[in-house]
Amino acid sequence: MDTSLIVNLTYIAASIFFIVGLKMLGSPETARRGNLLSSSGMLLAVVVTLLDQNIIDYRYIAGALLAGSLVGYFAATKVKMTSMPEMVAIFNGFGGIASLLVGSSEYIHSSLNNPALMGAIYLTVLIGGVTFTGSLIAYGKLSEVISGRPFLYKGQQFVNGLLLISILLVGANMLFVQEFITPNQTLILLIVLAFILGVLFVIPIGGADMPVVIALLNSFSGLAACAAGFVITNNVLIVAGALVGASGLILTNIMCKAMNRSLSNVLFSGFGAVSDTSSDSEEDQGEVSPINAQDAYLILEAATSVLIVPGYGMAVAQAQHAVRELGELLEANGAEVKYAIHPVAGRMPGHMNVLLAEANVSYDVLVEPEDVNPIMDTVDVCMVIGANDVVNPDAKDNEGSPIYGMPIIEVDNSKTVFVLKRSMASGFAGIQNPLFFKSNSRMLFGDAKETVSTLVSEFKG
Ligand code: NDP
Repeated sequence: MDTSLIVNLTYIAASIFFIVGLKMLGSPETARRGNLLSSSGMLLAVVVTLLDQNIIDYRYIAGALLAGSLVGYFAATKVKMTSMPEMVAIFNGFGGIASLLVGSSEYIHSSLNNPALMGAIYLTVLIGGVTFTGSLIAYGKLSEVISGRPFLYKGQQFVNGLLLISILLVGANMLFVQEFITPNQTLILLIVLAFILGVLFVIPIGGADMPVVIALLNSFSGLAACAAGFVITNNVLIVAGALVGASGLILTNIMCKAMNRSLSNVLFSGFGAVSDTSSDSEEDQGEVSPINAQDAYLILEAATSVLIVPGYGMAVAQAQHAVRELGELLEANGAEVKYAIHPVAGRMPGHMNVLLAEANVSYDVLVEPEDVNPIMDTVDVCMVIGANDVVNPDAKDNEGSPIYGMPIIEVDNSKTVFVLKRSMASGFAGIQNPLFFKSNSRMLFGDAKETVSTLVSEFKG
């Protein structure tokens, strides 16, 4: 059998691994095996590619493999669970720059008189560059090195329009004309414009919209790889890139639905730029009612239904194991316990599901906002554990709020709400939360893990 047939058959096998693996990622029970299956598919694809292509020097590959493995090892073992979202953002960016480098190298070495190839290179460099700098800005916003507030300036539409026209002109020169500037200048100009577009694309998007941006950048990194697959005519790269691109777009759609917003609205409205007109300041909202863990225990002890609502603060406190233990004690005490998961809680899609799965919380007790909101008035106690934006009633009551229209978990309709957080600080969207001032809310100030552990000790007597 000739080598190219073996290679292509192996690529088909690898693609099947990817598709089945991706399907398995759809359910928490099969997700781990799905991940392993997809990675095995990638290993297969890499090994067979190394056997097939005319490798110039294996030493370069060995060096890159070593460097990449070290970074991967460091990321997997050293990066804290709370920094996972930033790591995902950076890895999207690495995917983008890798595709950009592949596209650039092919441009330098190939004949310029092939519009189809030039088109693929153009898309690879453009999407790769946008993904790279866009992901760096997303990383900055997630790690709060850059403010999460939308950055808007006068003449923004004009600058964006000018940038888009320049990118189209460079594309036309690259594909059809090849005049005015040298090929090297064309490439450099395209890279610079793509980098600028990446920055200008993400910087105006406000904190609360970052889930959509992360999902979209993830999709872009796949599309850039797919385009790079066309550049180097590698079938498995085309398939893998298309799968990442498509699944990223599906995730983007899910995130948009979770926020009740259209994609164009997220990208072009400078969400969060709406000034917080009707969100009263802390002083105007009245007093909050703090409660201590001992008193909270007495209320929990008498509760027959408890809804746990985790948010980013649970990840920061690493409280998931203590929360699971408390949930079990409440059940043993006769209460019905459920966990309500908001799709954008935390800092990455599925963040809360990952944490609760790690703590062995059963999938059967996880519920979605739309399941629990209609029966919220029957819930005795809602325990909001480090969540803030996803339980902010301004999203339904206050038209002037930047998060107005976003579906929330309506904990304010339950009989009693315990809010576990350390201070009156705002969440990621940077806005005040009237929930804290409602008559049925009690603030349990302190680190969530410590508070939950105290409640656990109270139950254990
Ligand atoms: P928020 O960011 O709104 O709030 C988190 C809260 O946790 C804060 O108010 C903070 O208050 C509290 N907290 C932090 N550390 C601790 C601790 N150790 N113990 C107790 N509490 C703590 O979180 P939500 O999950 O409600 O909302 C997610 C936000 O992030 C949304 O705005 C979403 O749009 C955005 N986002 C989501 C992404 C996703 O994909 N899921 C991606 C990017 C952004 P305090 O400091 O007082 O303790």
